[in-house]
Amino acid sequence: MRDASALVISVKSHSLSIMDNGRFVFSFDRAGRLYTAYRDGHTFIRGLSGIVVEKWHEEGEPWAPKRIRVLTEEEKRAFLSELWAEISEVVMAFRRGRVRVEVFGKGGGGSGEELDRWLEKILAWDAHAYARDQERFLSVYKPISILPPDQYLALVLQVTEGCHWNKCAFCDFYRDRRFRIKTEDEVRRHIAAVKEFLGDSITLRRSLFLADANALILPQERLVRLLEIIHEAFSFEGGQEALEGIYSFLDAYSGMRKTVEDFAALRSWHVKRLYLGVESGHDQLLRFVDKPGTAREALEVVSRIKAAGLSIGVIILIGLGGDAFFEAHVRDTIALLNEMPLDRGDILYLSPLYVHPGSDYEEKARAFGLRALTPQELKHQIRRIREGLRFASSAERPRVSLYDVREFVY
Ligand code: SF4
Repeated sequence: MRDASALVISVKSHSLSIMDNGRFVFSFDRAGRLYTAYRDGHTFIRGLSGIVVEKWHEEGEPWAPKRIRVLTEEEKRAFLSELWAEISEVVMAFRRGRVRVEVFGKGGGGSGEELDRWLEKILAWDAHAYARDQERFLSVYKPISILPPDQYLALVLQVTEGCHWNKCAFCDFYRDRRFRIKTEDEVRRHIAAVKEFLGDSITLRRSLFLADANALILPQERLVRLLEIIHEAFSFEGGQEALEGIYSFLDAYSGMRKTVEDFAALRSWHVKRLYLGVESGHDQLLRFVDKPGTAREALEVVSRIKAAGLSIGVIILIGLGGDAFFEAHVRDTIALLNEMPLDRGDILYLSPLYVHPGSDYEEKARAFGLRALTPQELKHQIRRIREGLRFASSAERPRVSLYDVREFVY
C-alpha cells in the first residue's frame, strides 16, 4: 500500500504535477495530457505527436553521456497504462483527503472542485485516448521535425512546409515533403485546427514558433500579412494568456534577402528571436556539405538581426567534417563567432552531429575518407570552441548551450 503522506499534487496555472517524494513526478497540461514524467531516475518526455523519449544515466556512470531513446509503440502503451494505474491510486488517495495540495500562482485549478475536474480529465487519458490523440495530431500537423531546445513547449504553426533548399548533406528533417508556402486561407484553417486540437492545454504554450525550416523566406509583404492573421488569432500583450513572442528558424542564404528595416518590422509584430543554422565558420566545409550561404553571409545576417533589435540563436554543428576538417572547423568557427555582435540575450547552441544511415553525408564522408569523431573528440571540439570565444564583457557573453537533437520531441 502506498504511503500517502509522501504524495503531493502541485497546481500551477498551466500545469499540474503529481509527485511521490522524489520517486516520481508526472506533469500534465490543462487538457489532462501528460507531457513529462520522471520515475526512478528516468525522464520521459511525451510530445503532442505522441512520441515518448526516455532519458537516463546508467547506474554507476554519471559521467557518461546521457542515454536517450524513443519508446516503441508497445513500450509506450505499457508505460502509459502503468502511469494511469499509478495516477488512479493517487486520485483515490486525494479524494480521501490524504494528499497534500500546493497551489502556485493564479489562474484556477486550486479549488477542491476545479482540482477534482482537472484530475478527472487526467484520468480520461488512458492508452487508447493517447493513441487517438496521436492520430488527431497528424491531421493537424505534418511531423514537426525539429525545434530549438528552448522552443519545445512553443505553440507551433506550420505556415510553410518543408525546407526551400532541402539539400544539406547532413539534414534529412524535411526529405519527406516538398517545400510550399501555405495560402492565407490555409493558415487560418491551420490556426483553427491547432486551437481545437490543443483545447485548454493551449495555455501551456507560452511562445509561438513559425515552422517549418525557414518560414522567414516568405517575401516581406506576405510574411507581414501572415503575422497580421496570427495576431488576429492570438494575443501577445497583457493578460495571463498572452503569448510572449514569435520565433522561427532562418538560414543565412534566405536571411540575406531581408534588410535591417525588414527585421525591425518583424520585431514590431512581436518576433523576438531567430535561430540561424550557421553550422560552421569554414566555407570549404559548408560547400562540402551543400549548406547554402557562406560564413560572411551568416555574419551579415546576424549583424542585421541584431541591428534590428532582435535576439539570435546561432547553431554550430559539432563534429561536422569529421577528423579531416577538425582544425579548420574549430579555427574558422571561433573566428566567425568572435566577430558576431552577440550579447547575453542571445544563445549559442553547440549541437553534436548525428549521421543518419544512408544519408548524403555518410556517402560523402566515405568517398572523402572522413573519419567520424569519437565521443572524446566531440567533447574536445566543444571545449576548444568554448575556450576560443572572446567577448568584451560578461554583458556581451551569450548563453552557450549543448543541443542534442536526439532529445527533440514535439
Ligand atoms: S537549410 Fe536547414 S533545414 Fe534545409 S536542408 Fe539545410 S539544414 Fe536542413
